[in-house]
Amino acid sequence: MKLEDARAQVVDYCHKLERSALASGTSGNISVFDGEQKLMAISPGAMDYDCMQPEDIVLMDLDGTVVESHRRPSSESSMHLACYRTRDDLRAVVHTHSPAATTLAVLGLELPAVHYMIALSGRSSIAIAPYHLYGTAALGKAATDALQGGYACLLESHGVLAAGPSLHHAWSTAQQVEFCAQLYLRAKSIGEPKILSDAQIAEVIDQLESHKRQS
Ligand SMILES: [Zn+2]
Repeated sequence: MKLEDARAQVVDYCHKLERSALASGTSGNISVFDGEQKLMAISPGAMDYDCMQPEDIVLMDLDGTVVESHRRPSSESSMHLACYRTRDDLRAVVHTHSPAATTLAVLGLELPAVHYMIALSGRSSIAIAPYHLYGTAALGKAATDALQGGYACLLESHGVLAAGPSLHHAWSTAQQVEFCAQLYLRAKSIGEPKILSDAQIAEVIDQLESHKRQS
């Protein structure tokens, strides 16, 4: 992917984030990684999404050096970089403070398999990374550990991290984590939700993979 395309894609999804139920003010950040040039295109810090343009997107190398920008990168750039440094299958990261998933995160709870769409995360439950100050390497380490080879985790008392082999996948995963968290909270308010087994989720993951191969 050309870096200009990566920057335009980050802007598109930031606009999408602003219009979605995943948004919470200007919190949340999005990045795309170019595996050939080993550069990350990430949304800038503290900027309204609606006035964001491709030239506002910050380019950084894996060491965290800003290669090109007139803006400062998102305060969570180290968490995004930790994802690309530790996993060569990841090409995009979406971090949000989406309300239902963050409610679980402030309770310090994992998200179990209340619905089969949790399989988009590649795991049968969404683990929670222990709390660390935002923007720190410690948070990046905790988050990448909690991904456990999958595509999403909760961040204790903070929010959600979703990742994927494409921005479309990372975005869809962030949406499904929020959807499943909403279901879980509603279900828990009137009873005890049924939780799908690891085998049932593995079956869904297989099916999603085979649909992807056919498309
Ligand atoms: Zn955050």
